[in-house]
Amino acid sequence: MNRECWATSVAICLKVIRCHCCGRSLALILWFVSIAVTPAATASTADQADSLQLLGREIAPGTRSKFPFIPDRSFEASYLNMPVFVARGLTRGPTLCLTAGVHGDELNGVEVARRAFAQIDPQKLRGTLIVLPAINAEGVRVGNRYLSDRRDLNRAFPGRSGGSVASLIAHAIFTNVLIHCDALLDLHTASNQRANLPQIRADLSDPAIRELAIHFGIGIIVGGSGPDGSLRREAVRAGIPAIIYEAGEPLRFQEDEIERGVQGVENVMAYLDMIEQAEREIPNARIYERSRWVRAGFRNGGFFFPTAQLGDIVGVGDSLGKIVDPLTDKTFEVVSPIAGEVIGMAVSKPVLSGFALFHLAWHDSD
Ligand SMILES: [Zn+2]
Repeated sequence: MNRECWATSVAICLKVIRCHCCGRSLALILWFVSIAVTPAATASTADQADSLQLLGREIAPGTRSKFPFIPDRSFEASYLNMPVFVARGLTRGPTLCLTAGVHGDELNGVEVARRAFAQIDPQKLRGTLIVLPAINAEGVRVGNRYLSDRRDLNRAFPGRSGGSVASLIAHAIFTNVLIHCDALLDLHTASNQRANLPQIRADLSDPAIRELAIHFGIGIIVGGSGPDGSLRREAVRAGIPAIIYEAGEPLRFQEDEIERGVQGVENVMAYLDMIEQAEREIPNARIYERSRWVRAGFRNGGFFFPTAQLGDIVGVGDSLGKIVDPLTDKTFEVVSPIAGEVIGMAVSKPVLSGFALFHLAWHDSD
């Protein structure tokens, strides 16, 4: 299969999946098919990209641009003052969207998005890369997971034009940017005072999403569709294959987690035939359909000292750590109720009853 046909077949694959969810994709399928049957003599002309119209800007083929997303100058619209990065390839291809900083304190993803965009040469790119590296821009600036009014932006999608600021931001992103996306990678870390093993989260029941997850190449995939109102779940509902890359802790940059994320974005772009990539083996992924948190037991609060680490494979009854009550010096053992891999955990700190300590994942047949 030559490059043009391969690129076209990938696009069709994505659109066929989307057509189960929304009628408008059908026309796009026909559009891509029409490219596939274009005679070779005119294929090069048909493959030339035209300019992209986005947020009132025109991005010419073979160029890249960074600009602010500011719909107007009102007080509330100022919360939409987020950066937008766009690279438009010379030739047609899929549009991949990268989003980060939906939770403003999750900095690894913000830097993954920046680096992934910085290394793109639009002259060699097929298709378009759209990056929203700091959706909750105010949160990124001040280290706040939430918006200024304490709302979680990642529960507000797809949003609506007449709601809270979270809803306004979500609606603006959905209606102005996500309509262009053929696939979405949303970048996160664990929440405050916890750390995540680098992993992909994906709805494994959807073949297009499953392929995206595998080709990211991180080696660990945790199944699930995510909570209502999250960007990933609502994008999938709108017919856009979407996955999450989760890695590390909030509030700081972690080189290993960032590098693995940048490599994963590159892997996905190569899989979508947007860029050339040296031959690289995608590792067999450990795919986990199930996960659960192990929590501090009732009245077992105190100082938490973990012994298990991220990536450990544990069995039923294995000790994961201990909690010491500093007033009685009584020690509570934290024991694994299941066999699985430690994919997330709390840092060593004082904890109360019910605090989520270890996130364990396992395969259905385990
Ligand atoms: Zn997050």
